[in-house]
Amino acid sequence: MSLLVLCEHDRGVLAGASLEALTFGRDLAAAAGLACEAVVIGEGAETAAADLGAYGAATVHVASHAVLRDFGPLAWGETLAQIIRSTGAEAALACGTDRGNEVLAHVAALLDEPFVANCRQITPGGTWSMTRMQWGGSLLEDATLEAGIRLVTVAHHAVEATPADTPDAGTLVPFAADLADSAACTVVADRVVLTQGITLATSPVVVGGGRGVGSAEKFAALEELAAELGGVVGCSRAVTNNGWRPHSDQVGQTGTRIAPQIYIASGISGAIQHWVGAMASKNILAINTDSEANMVTKAGYAVIADLHEVIPAITEEIRRRRG
Ligand SMILES: Cc1cc2nc3c(=O)[nH]c(=O)nc-3n(C[C@H](O)[C@H](O)[C@H](O)COP(=O)(O)OP(=O)(O)OC[C@H]3O[C@@H](n4cnc5c(N)ncnc54)[C@H](O)[C@@H]3O)c2cc1C
Repeated sequence: MSLLVLCEHDRGVLAGASLEALTFGRDLAAAAGLACEAVVIGEGAETAAADLGAYGAATVHVASHAVLRDFGPLAWGETLAQIIRSTGAEAALACGTDRGNEVLAHVAALLDEPFVANCRQITPGGTWSMTRMQWGGSLLEDATLEAGIRLVTVAHHAVEATPADTPDAGTLVPFAADLADSAACTVVADRVVLTQGITLATSPVVVGGGRGVGSAEKFAALEELAAELGGVVGCSRAVTNNGWRPHSDQVGQTGTRIAPQIYIASGISGAIQHWVGAMASKNILAINTDSEANMVTKAGYAVIADLHEVIPAITEEIRRRRG
């Protein structure tokens, strides 16, 4: 019996989130006594499959069909449902991205099985016990799952993607999906690259600014520090509400979840809706005039001072040390 992990990719470029799901799935499969197998779908799938053995996939099902040229949630869902049926898989996982959740919702409807989204911990058995994230992570829910086929997504950043101690074979097995043209009712037809290079979600350094920054213009100092550190600027919702930064820069429940090596949170109080987007950061440096601010009490490091003095001073010191 097997556990399938759907690995997202875009024309052959594997999504980092998929390797998190595969890492999680590999450990879960071992605990449940199942074989861990991966699924990649559509154009570029073979390229995307190249590293999956290293992350613990014994077999990689490579699905193709004319309808699968670009991502389409229903077409991907039908394809994954067909692979589940043909392999007799006991469970299927995906990462809890928008795409992962949408595809597994289709699979659940097609197979008439329940679906549990955004899990961060699972104990297998006759009944699976799981902890899942609700309300953007501000509520953790303990749940149990009894189903013929378990369909689950893994919360983004719940685990770090790590190669398996012992790589598995990653043997490619072609799968010819049987799809009607109607399965392509919504497909990605074109893409526009809005962000070059690193993004807020993947940057190793995020310099965040909140209401305490004071204006759009005053973010220039944060931009300078981010550039010195090879990172990007993020912000709180108070900032986007004020129109100082675009929503694409917002960290939090209704923004982006970040997981940098360091998050420098300046002039941000650390409201729960912001915290759930920042809590996966490996280290946090809070700069705040209020020593009681939530972000200060949660941070590993804090400077209790005016950010307008501290941020330029850090930038200057980095430049001085680099000569
Ligand atoms: C449904 C819902 C969803 C939400 N989603 C999000 C979300 O995704 N992301 C998000 O961020 N918020 C979200 N919010 C809003 C959230 O509740 C907070 O209102 C918001 O995060 C506050 O932003 P802030 O920390 O910048 O501002 P404030 O809470 O006003 O904090 C400003 C901080 O700056 C400090 N400060 C002021 N001046 C200085 C200075 N010169 N130097 C240093 N420190 C200074 C203050 O001490 C204070 O701690 C959401 C709210 C709701 C209801």
